[in-house]
Amino acid sequence: MRPAVVEYVAARTLEEVLGALADGETAVLAGGQSLILELTAPKEAPRRVVDINEVDGLDTLTEREDHVQVGPLVRHREFESDTVGGALGDLMRTVVRHIGHPPIRARGTMLGSLAWANPAAEWPALAAAVGAELTLTGPDGCRTVPATEFFTGPFSTVRRPEELLVEARLPVFPDGTGTGYAEDRRVTIYPQAAAMAVVTVTGGLVSRAAIGLANAGPCPVRARAAENVLLGAELSDACISAAAEAAATVDAVRDRRAFQTLTRRALTRARDAL
Ligand SMILES: Cc1cc2nc3c(=O)[nH]c(=O)nc-3n(C[C@H](O)[C@H](O)[C@H](O)COP(=O)(O)OP(=O)(O)OC[C@H]3O[C@@H](n4cnc5c(N)ncnc54)[C@H](O)[C@@H]3O)c2cc1C
Repeated sequence: MRPAVVEYVAARTLEEVLGALADGETAVLAGGQSLILELTAPKEAPRRVVDINEVDGLDTLTEREDHVQVGPLVRHREFESDTVGGALGDLMRTVVRHIGHPPIRARGTMLGSLAWANPAAEWPALAAAVGAELTLTGPDGCRTVPATEFFTGPFSTVRRPEELLVEARLPVFPDGTGTGYAEDRRVTIYPQAAAMAVVTVTGGLVSRAAIGLANAGPCPVRARAAENVLLGAELSDACISAAAEAAATVDAVRDRRAFQTLTRRALTRARDAL
């Protein structure tokens, strides 16, 4: 396909990035693993890109006591090692290994994946499931939105064209938390269906639960009906099956049987990881 002719801006500072984005028609070039494909569709392609790769300070990944902060140039592969600890780190390590292949993970960024908002992608589903908060910076300053409100449709978010997504903040899970992930990929490059589960067990009962589904609808799905089945219950096979059934009744879910099976698998893995 014929690539579009685009103007390229190499930014050195955050101010230069925001200055370039101010026209509302400039795309951010982070890892380029999705944008480059977009540039081969001349009609919809942006006319200008601003490369953020040489801007200092955008590659920070910081683990605090109760959350992890991820900057715009943190590549997928950073999550393959034990940079992030605890159960959140376990989930991220498992999930990231399913994203593309090593060269894509070496260039692509988590924030790029969130901004791109492919409903089949793993990071948006994880961000929505764990209750991540996303911070945007633009001409009017900073604003933070919950990941569950960030995605508005396929490849569509609340981000204004003048804004840069500058941080994802993911809560750290308490002790007694297990996580699990399951996906069905078959022949596609993105998962056809995926489920992830986070369960915290206190005194033998589920005290906290998060279930995320990827490619279940136009936006990443947080399956709260399934979480409600789990809360306060013992994590038995019967409870897991009931939660999986509830996950598959979420409005957006298309292939109910697949999501039921994958949710059951993710929950069983989460229980095994406790
Ligand atoms: C062959 C192949 C297989 C893949 N498989 C998978 C897969 O299995 N799962 C998966 O999740 N992904 C997959 N991807 C996509 C990959 O994860 C991308 O890295 C990711 O979607 C985008 O990240 P990026 O940093 O490359 O963003 P870019 O391509 O640079 O940008 C993507 C979009 O987001 C915008 N953007 C980027 N960063 C910001 C920011 N900080 N603020 C505002 N806007 C921003 C850009 O303007 C652009 O519109 C695959 C890609 C390829 C080519």
